[in-house]
Amino acid sequence: MERLRGLWSTWGSPPGTPTMSLLARCLRRPAGAALLLCVLACPAGLRPADPDPEAESLLSRLEAAWRNGDEAAWLALWDFDGPEQRAGEEEIVRNAFASDETALSFLLRPSPPRGAARFSADVQVFAADEPRARVAYWRLAFARRAGRWAVVGRQEAGSLDGLVHLSLAPRAFRARGVSLRLEDFELRMEDGTLFSTPEDLGPTAFAFVGRGRVRFSPAPPAEREQLRQFSGATAIDREVSWAFFRLHPADFHGALDTGRLEPEANPGPHRARAEEVWRARSERSFLIDAPLPRSPWWLMPSPGDAVVDFPWGRKRVLTLAISSGEPEDVNLFDRDRRRQICTYPSGGRSARYSEDDRRVVDVLDNDVTARFDPDRLEVVATHTMQVRLLAPTGTLRLRLHDDFRVASVTSEDGGRLLFFRVREQGNLVVSLGPLAQGDRPFRITTRYAGRHDPAPVDQEVAQVTTPLVLDLVDDGLVERPPLVYSNRTAWYPRPPAEDFATARVGIDTPAGWLGVVGGELLSAKTEGGRTRAEYRLAQPGKFVTAIVGRLADVGMRQEGEQAIRGFAGQRVRGETLTRMQAAQEMLTFYAKRFGPSPYPTVGLVVAEGETPAGHSPPGLLYLQVRPPVLRGRSLPDDPANFGDLPGFFLAHEAAHQWWGQGTAPANYRERWLSEAWAQYASALWLRERLGEGTFRSMMDRMARWALRYDTAGPIHLGQRLGHLKQDPRVFRAVVYDKGAWVLHMLRGLLGDEAFFAGARAFLEGHRYAKAGTEDLRAALEEASGRDLGPYFERWIYDTGLPVIRWSARTTRTETGFRSTFEVRPQGLPGPLPLQLTATTADGVERRTVELDPAGGSWTLDTRSEARRLQLNEDRGLLARFERAGRLPQR
Ligand SMILES: [Zn+2]
Repeated sequence: MERLRGLWSTWGSPPGTPTMSLLARCLRRPAGAALLLCVLACPAGLRPADPDPEAESLLSRLEAAWRNGDEAAWLALWDFDGPEQRAGEEEIVRNAFASDETALSFLLRPSPPRGAARFSADVQVFAADEPRARVAYWRLAFARRAGRWAVVGRQEAGSLDGLVHLSLAPRAFRARGVSLRLEDFELRMEDGTLFSTPEDLGPTAFAFVGRGRVRFSPAPPAEREQLRQFSGATAIDREVSWAFFRLHPADFHGALDTGRLEPEANPGPHRARAEEVWRARSERSFLIDAPLPRSPWWLMPSPGDAVVDFPWGRKRVLTLAISSGEPEDVNLFDRDRRRQICTYPSGGRSARYSEDDRRVVDVLDNDVTARFDPDRLEVVATHTMQVRLLAPTGTLRLRLHDDFRVASVTSEDGGRLLFFRVREQGNLVVSLGPLAQGDRPFRITTRYAGRHDPAPVDQEVAQVTTPLVLDLVDDGLVERPPLVYSNRTAWYPRPPAEDFATARVGIDTPAGWLGVVGGELLSAKTEGGRTRAEYRLAQPGKFVTAIVGRLADVGMRQEGEQAIRGFAGQRVRGETLTRMQAAQEMLTFYAKRFGPSPYPTVGLVVAEGETPAGHSPPGLLYLQVRPPVLRGRSLPDDPANFGDLPGFFLAHEAAHQWWGQGTAPANYRERWLSEAWAQYASALWLRERLGEGTFRSMMDRMARWALRYDTAGPIHLGQRLGHLKQDPRVFRAVVYDKGAWVLHMLRGLLGDEAFFAGARAFLEGHRYAKAGTEDLRAALEEASGRDLGPYFERWIYDTGLPVIRWSARTTRTETGFRSTFEVRPQGLPGPLPLQLTATTADGVERRTVELDPAGGSWTLDTRSEARRLQLNEDRGLLARFERAGRLPQR
């Protein structure tokens, strides 16, 4: 039985690009499944020097018998072991030929050599019995018996079930006071007509027309806040005039109070409107494009899954989806505008999970050979991945951008695999057929091509590109920025969640261009007007990035274990050598604090671009620098823009080799483990280079951003912060800047030794793997012997920063002066160090105290009178500080 699982949202991809796929599993095998038609052209396969013509003739006769629906001819090609085997085969073939349409094709047409005694062949058999269809995979065994070749056995090796054709049945139900209930959601059909699919299919698709009401009230507070940001209210309760929904037929009675449905005596008045709804909505869920006869087909939703479309205002439609296979199975989104409104686990389950927990496949190695023609944005590629199945699955769900047309998907032996794409979902689903049976790793090769413009790099600063830059490029004042094919768009087939794998990549470009990939450059040569460079990433990385530009290799530096190879555009060649040295120093600085670099050979690409930006794929650093002609222009104010601090971008990107690449966040919510660490590590580097003053001013700027946007949601909302308002500054203010502050405060709390020991243990324990907030907490607790639970709860999973009210005054004493600080915090998760400062004409007196949530008062004695009293001069604490003349009595 086949299981197809789907994701509604893949937050592993960047915000603003939620992908929605609607796959499902089919519950049961259609009764008396008929077996039908040929799906794929059979490839030639590898032919031995001396093929056996008799065997080949048998295969041709087998195909012809199936094509002609000739039962007698089919059976005549068999040599049965006994009457039982014959009877079984007769039944199967009779059912198949009785179906509406059937087709048989070889996945790989075998060609046994002369003198062979046995061989086998994998076939794919499609069968449609309207309104259903099924694809089965058989392994047929052939043997030479009594001087002739015959089929001697057939083994079922997987199937793809649940393909259906949907239509609206003529009859309908009167729905008066009937509710469809899903997690936190109700569609109440007050008075109207409910149309559904015909009885032979069961009730799976529905169009409701009439007076209804939609209620949705998400349980998690952070989701209610997201809904408020979207709609102005923390719950939905509104009237609707129609709805479209899909369920598995087995859920019909459970999800709806079907007892209250009566046959509609006169569905006529509502029918035209229902058909309109049907036309607009039915093709948007569970519809697949596959090279199968009678396409397109819909998939049956899995039991427990559901999709409901309902109107939102005049023109918009919202979709509620329950995807039981996903860790966050309740989803509300606006499909047309690509807005994910709410996403969370049902039943109060925790959102602290790893996206790898349910994965069914592990990618071990990626091998990409790609030809880029950057002027036309054309890519022609062959991608082979070596995978290992972690759980039984008959299909492999991959991401691949819709710009690419897939020519073929083949297995190691060259056998063709059936693949299909769910419309507009950027995915590629491969039916594994007989491969689903084995437990050894295997390889799958996809050939594809297309014109694809990769999005701008996953930039650290809002990037408003290109008309200006393109003009300057035309004028020769700026070099054209390279194309960065990265994890932002799926430019090669990959699982929905990024997967650590080694890689070998060959990039072919026109001469004058060079493709750069992470890891070690193995070779590069130019011949016949094309340049071909080959790379090897020997350590596992989450994805492969190819930077294609007018770049040249500027050489290699090696210090200790760490090697850096530079690549640069013509105009920035000189400064690239300086930056290579800086990068080397940064990597050494980080290695001391975070342990050895996960990628000992790193490439550094420097190119010109409109705004400073960076990207840090495994084993590669990309730095976009502003050309002199633009350097005077001010940059947009942004929580991640510290471009005025020399070295900031490179330091941030270099830190990502540890934080984000070597060890990756466990899901989209955990992005702070990558960005906050990169941000904080770069602040530490800047302190090392530029001193405490620079460090504090950077912490101050980050504090301002964090305080400005903190109410938008918790750090643990990750990539969804700012998504609804399409304001990426919210994400960066909370995840980068507040996150960096959280690390800074933890360091203050634990001290350098325990903090960095915990960080190293975390990285070492999760090297080339994914990890979450809880793993970091455990590592820091282990290193420090402290319970950090309350701090993480408040800072990471909760919204809101502490408010610290304080007052201070100085009085004369017998020997000098005494300053008394009174501090009253609100929302402090636990005790934290706080620095008190009194500045006098003679100097500065400082005292660090432990501030606990109840607050307290402390004194500082000075010889002369204090001119200035300060709290938090060392920037140890992120809070809203409010100084009052006198604090009210508690
Ligand atoms: Zn970053």
